[in-house]
Amino acid sequence: MEINLRKAKSLITKSNIPKIDFVINPYVGCQHGCIYCYAEFMIRFTGHKGDKWGEFLDIKTYEFDKIKPARYDGKKILLSSVTDPYLPLELKYENTRKILEKLVGTKAEISVLTKSKFVTRDIDLFKKFENIEVGISINTLDSDFAKLIEKGASRPRERLKALKEVHDNGIKTYTFISPFFPQITDYRAIIEETKAYTDSYMFENLNFRPHNVPRILKIIKKHYPGLIPVYQEFRKDHTLWDLIESEIESYCEKLKLTYKIEFHHGGFSKS
Ligand code: SF4
Repeated sequence: MEINLRKAKSLITKSNIPKIDFVINPYVGCQHGCIYCYAEFMIRFTGHKGDKWGEFLDIKTYEFDKIKPARYDGKKILLSSVTDPYLPLELKYENTRKILEKLVGTKAEISVLTKSKFVTRDIDLFKKFENIEVGISINTLDSDFAKLIEKGASRPRERLKALKEVHDNGIKTYTFISPFFPQITDYRAIIEETKAYTDSYMFENLNFRPHNVPRILKIIKKHYPGLIPVYQEFRKDHTLWDLIESEIESYCEKLKLTYKIEFHHGGFSKS
């Protein structure tokens, strides 16, 4: 892992994500190195051309005292969008913790999203916020498959354990079932496992992008060879996602869950 320090102009930046006003990305890069990562485009904008996603991390440096909690009152903040706030190196550099410490007192709505068991370190801080929810993203309970697609992240069971601990401490939680791998993501099993300590669910489909398609197909071929034709179909016929969306919808309605389906495919999702 190549580690650099990078002076940041700001740590809380305006967002282009619908319904999110600001995003916080304490690092450039991500140790988790997920094969499907949509944030990999960051390589081009951050002087990392030629570097491999998942193999570098820039630690943003900033005068943390410049963060003024009142500035974000009434806004929605996502932590994080193009990195993970609880990377293993967060334990050493603590950028996420330093930012949260400075934000205490804000009336912003904060959403924390991670694939890391280390999120439990900040339970004491989460308790100081008026409006915060903490989520984990997960798409399989199969540890071997997770290791192939999200090599640096905590294993699925570790994430679930962490989420339960957060919930047991009175903090609102959500499970983000993402990205949804057709015929692999057993969302019913994930819901069954998590519903006792999850306040709401979100779903997002797998996005095929030119940079990630070869990697995804390579792993499917290795782990689920029979599914290659299915994945080829999903690449060609985007309406297949609509069927999954309807199925999830009926299932969540039946269980009376609070949920949101964010299937984005350049406008072809029925929602
Ligand atoms: S955790 Fe998120 S940002 Fe990090 S590599 Fe995985 S998908 Fe990308």
